[in-house]
Amino acid sequence: MKAGYYMAFFALGAILGSFFNMLIYRLPRNISIVAPRSFCPHCGKQLKWWHNIPIVSYLLLGGKCYYCKSPIGVRYLLVEIITALTLVLLYAKFGLTEKMLWASLFLLPLIPAAFIDLEHYILPDSATIGTLVWGLISSVGHISPVSIKASVIGALVCGGAFLAVAFLSKGGMGLGDVKLAASFGANFGLKVGVTSLFVSVLLGALVGIALMLLRKKGRKDRIPFGPFMVLGAYACTFFGKELARLYLGF
Ligand SMILES: [Zn+2]
Repeated sequence: MKAGYYMAFFALGAILGSFFNMLIYRLPRNISIVAPRSFCPHCGKQLKWWHNIPIVSYLLLGGKCYYCKSPIGVRYLLVEIITALTLVLLYAKFGLTEKMLWASLFLLPLIPAAFIDLEHYILPDSATIGTLVWGLISSVGHISPVSIKASVIGALVCGGAFLAVAFLSKGGMGLGDVKLAASFGANFGLKVGVTSLFVSVLLGALVGIALMLLRKKGRKDRIPFGPFMVLGAYACTFFGKELARLYLGF
């Protein structure tokens, strides 16, 4: 029985990932997400349904457009696999519970947001404010792990802390990051929320230093912070209590 659920969540996640790929391409370019059917960004030809099966089609077509043979970014495959694995891991952690519903609606929108930030340096409001509102709503009735009071305080403190950093760094940190920090506070509460921000700062710093040492990026080059925040959110969804004890000591 359980294996069936795992397979179903993997398939559902792959389909959702395919939808995220469309969002990642279309949202920043202001292309309608309903009107044109999927097309190749190189030759513009419309894709047939069997070019569009998540994960499978990418592998069958060898990562190339069926018509013009232009390479399709490996990102398409990655996003589908990441989304599928996210749902599988959430099911493994929480089972079919309200907590799984909470964590899914919190983490899943962050996947397209991270990839959009990586490419365009924007975090869409639909993901940041959307998950912030979800954190507040889901704290009512024990769907999320925190009380409504903890959710509000978490949002104010985490959002406020990043707002101060954004103000002091004069544009070094964007408002999208501030909204996302508030969302983490709303979803995790104060303790785990602050921890998730610590984890993202640590990961961002490590990768930033590594890139500088490899001379891939100069000190002035911008590295989007959103993807590191999303990694922090993942870490704290699965190991929030443990990481809080490690970082904050309680
Ligand atoms: Zn093509």
